[in-house]
Amino acid sequence: MGPLLAKNVGARKSLVKSKPAFLVDAMLGSVARKLRFFGLDTLYIADGPDDEIIGIGIKQNRVILTCDKDMYRRIMKAGAQGILLNGSDDLENIAQTFFSFGMMLGPYIDVSSRCCMCNGLLSEISHAEVKGKIPFNIVNWHTQFFECKKCNKLFWEGSHYLSLRALSKRIDSRIKERLEKNNSYATDSLSQSIVKKP
Ligand SMILES: [Zn+2]
Repeated sequence: MGPLLAKNVGARKSLVKSKPAFLVDAMLGSVARKLRFFGLDTLYIADGPDDEIIGIGIKQNRVILTCDKDMYRRIMKAGAQGILLNGSDDLENIAQTFFSFGMMLGPYIDVSSRCCMCNGLLSEISHAEVKGKIPFNIVNWHTQFFECKKCNKLFWEGSHYLSLRALSKRIDSRIKERLEKNNSYATDSLSQSIVKKP
């Protein structure tokens, strides 16, 4: 996957001591929801002029994720940060995103910090506060509840939490595989160039 790294120079520029923030364009809505679930600040813009999306990316220092090659060209031309995704599914797309930074997803994960619907921040609320707002059996079976400060949606650690946590592990294995592969390519080409020297 050497070419991918070279292609995403704009994204690597930001190389990411703090958490990256994303701007996700149309067709990647489910990637946006998953990134938010992992606690990453992710704006989703389903439609709108490309220039406007790129402008927001630059202004808010967000890495723009897109599947659209023309859009990606415009992002690079404008000097914005972007990653062209061509993965067939969310796992592949998110792995590709973090691989572009040369980073694993794991260190960035902060589950229960962000609303996957609106990107608002979550705060923990008490057992007593959720009573009457969600079904009785859910209140009884769970101990931790969170409310979105922006849209007031309630969250708790149900089975989708477990499946998304499992997904994050699979994403990290995929990234690790690629990083290892990439390192071995780098070592190969280095040893070849040493051999070739007179
Ligand atoms: Zn929300």
